[in-house]
Amino acid sequence: MHSGCSLPDEKFARFRLLASRLVRFLLLGLAALARTGARHIRGVRERAVAAAAQAERCAELLRQSQADLAAALHERDQFHEQLRRQGLALEAARAAAEAAYHAKASFMATMSHELRTPLNIIIGFSTAMVEHPEIYEGVPLPPAFVADLREIRRSGEHLLGLINDILDLARVEAGRIELNRDALSLAPLLDEMLRTARGLLKDRPIRVRGEYHGTLPPVLADETRVRQVLLNLVSNACKFTSVGEVILGAHADGPELTIWVRDTGIGIAAADQARIFNHFEQVEDSQLRPYPSTGLGLAISRWLIELHGGRIWLESELGKGSTFYFTLPCTQVADGQEMLQARAVGA
Ligand code: ADP
Repeated sequence: MHSGCSLPDEKFARFRLLASRLVRFLLLGLAALARTGARHIRGVRERAVAAAAQAERCAELLRQSQADLAAALHERDQFHEQLRRQGLALEAARAAAEAAYHAKASFMATMSHELRTPLNIIIGFSTAMVEHPEIYEGVPLPPAFVADLREIRRSGEHLLGLINDILDLARVEAGRIELNRDALSLAPLLDEMLRTARGLLKDRPIRVRGEYHGTLPPVLADETRVRQVLLNLVSNACKFTSVGEVILGAHADGPELTIWVRDTGIGIAAADQARIFNHFEQVEDSQLRPYPSTGLGLAISRWLIELHGGRIWLESELGKGSTFYFTLPCTQVADGQEMLQARAVGA
């Protein structure tokens, strides 16, 4: 007989204790594992939710961008349409301007012919009647007739000059003046101008002389237009000078030639010096300036010189005289600076 538990029972009890501890340990481990798993799953779910929210925001942004793009495309289409309409309007305006220009050009050509032809007849006949009475069988005209005929001729010439100036002005403004540029030797042209000045001044006590070298380098210029500018400056110098000198000069200045027309006439006040280069601008001083004029000569001269790539300007003092300068480009840059030599031409 045994008292208390038998050995197998004891082993069994220990085994149960151990098993129960093992089970508890396993359960605790499983619970910990489950908690970690749950935390992990929660983390994954939260990340998935955040990613979904981010994706939604991206989708929203994309929708917004698509809407913006659609609006921009619409605006672009509208802009294109507007441009197309403006292009059509511009083309129509250009065609209208072109047509108006052609109408004006043909009107001017016709008018200039219509006006110049009878004017040339008036000038031609009045000149012939005054200067060549032999054409009329040598019968001399009474002096009163001659004086009136001279006035008819003078007015005719003035009108012709006016018509030519206005035509030139219109051509320059339309940008349709064409220059026939060529290598031009200035000295012969200046010689010719000195003779013209002497003719214009006739018996007035004014000395006419040149300040230029005979071997000036050639300029690249349109001879007719340079003559026109010189003629305007020389006739102004003669118009506004009653005593002293009228001088024409030129010298080479690097790549250009500087030409000047100087007089000892009435001069131009500083306030008027810039504006006389504008068209129809004259100095308001009818007592000192009794000559009929248009105020176009200097404006046209300035345009013509600028068209050649040159400049025109003046220096003047009221009561003392004026010097008008302009430049023209040389065909080639002179090797050395040319020395200015004063010489009296034809004197
Ligand atoms: P126009 O001589 O036909 O009036 P211009 O344009 O040639 O036109 O000259 C404009 C004005 O400038 C003249 O009316 C005159 O008042 C002034 N002017 C031009 N040249 C001279 C000069 N050499 N001396 C004094 N005044 C001048």
